Amino acid sequence: MTLKNVRLWGAGEPVDITVDKGRIAAIGAVPDSVGEDFGGRAVFPGFVESHCHLDKTLSLGAGGLENHSGTLMEAIEIWRASKPHRSKADFKERARRGLLQAIARGTTSLRSHLDMDSYKGLEVLEGMLELRQEFSGKIDLEFVALGQPGDPSGDALMVEALQRGIDIVGGCPHITPDPLACMKSALDLAERFGRPVDLHMDEHENPAHLDLEPLAEMVLARGLQNQVTSDHNCSLTFQSPEVQRRVIDKVTKAELHLVSLPAVNLVLQGKGHPPARGLMPIKALRSAGINVALGSDNVVDPFQPMGNYDLLWQANTAVHAASLTAPEERQAALEMITLAPARILGLPGYGLQVGCTADLVVVDAHSYETALAQIAPRLRVYKAGKLVYQQEVRHEWL
Ligand SMILES: [Zn+2]
Repeated sequence: MTLKNVRLWGAGEPVDITVDKGRIAAIGAVPDSVGEDFGGRAVFPGFVESHCHLDKTLSLGAGGLENHSGTLMEAIEIWRASKPHRSKADFKERARRGLLQAIARGTTSLRSHLDMDSYKGLEVLEGMLELRQEFSGKIDLEFVALGQPGDPSGDALMVEALQRGIDIVGGCPHITPDPLACMKSALDLAERFGRPVDLHMDEHENPAHLDLEPLAEMVLARGLQNQVTSDHNCSLTFQSPEVQRRVIDKVTKAELHLVSLPAVNLVLQGKGHPPARGLMPIKALRSAGINVALGSDNVVDPFQPMGNYDLLWQANTAVHAASLTAPEERQAALEMITLAPARILGLPGYGLQVGCTADLVVVDAHSYETALAQIAPRLRVYKAGKLVYQQEVRHEWL
């Protein structure tokens, strides 16, 4: 199969991409080849979602579920209260609709956190593992146990989830009574089971509370470099330049991966005066060589009433929220939904070179710049060379 006349990242003239056995076999003009002609439209490697919540997704409004204060704490409370009334079928159905949205926006690999608590955590995991089978060949899925390491019953549940096949150790230290114990326990579990770690960190605007620094120290002390992902990192923004530099140096040495969730930070925070939002300092972190990705986080649930798993929209939002306006910064916004999260998920053969897996997205724009600026429609999505989504765009001005 050949995708004819498509434009690659940074390249001038359109090329043809030939796909064979699920991989990119050749890039260059192929006379007389069979395939669709895209008229010079841009092709991306499949977008990679490094942080979302399929168990919570698309639950807003159903059964009166609304977050009236718009705060993280109300979101957590009303979500928890709604869970005992939910069935496995409900969790699966909403997650299935979320996955269809993600595929339609060009996402070909996705990491989701799943609440791992006594409110049906293991039941949800069972349903999601079934969905992973159902979506096999369409989108690759991996799951993080968003549990309560450090709490005795929380640890026991994490162990059970890991034994039942969850991929990654998670947690949310800043909302536990003892964040240091939570992080320590998460790293203990990761070492015991040989799994990566992915934690919700410092999702608040309180400068006096910063868990990122001790996390980096613990990771370094245990030699777990490149194994740990830290999401949100909002309170880093409120530190003095000296403290920021010190913490960034430790994060660099610990080779932490960071995920910024700009849309959710914008809606959940800023309730005080002045209405500050704790978007992590993306430019300073990237300048230090740290791997920073962007994720959707919550989609139409009590935490975030907006969204549709569109990572191009998320990159566009990051341009606004983090002022990524220079040409190289706009390119960075695109790297943060492709190359950077692919490193976090450890995807082998990711990219647009010969030999890479043919996870490809053709957009209705003739350059990457335009695709980002105007959140271009996705025309075709291929997973390992197989067409998994298509839409036709027809404009009429009457
Ligand atoms: Zn999250």
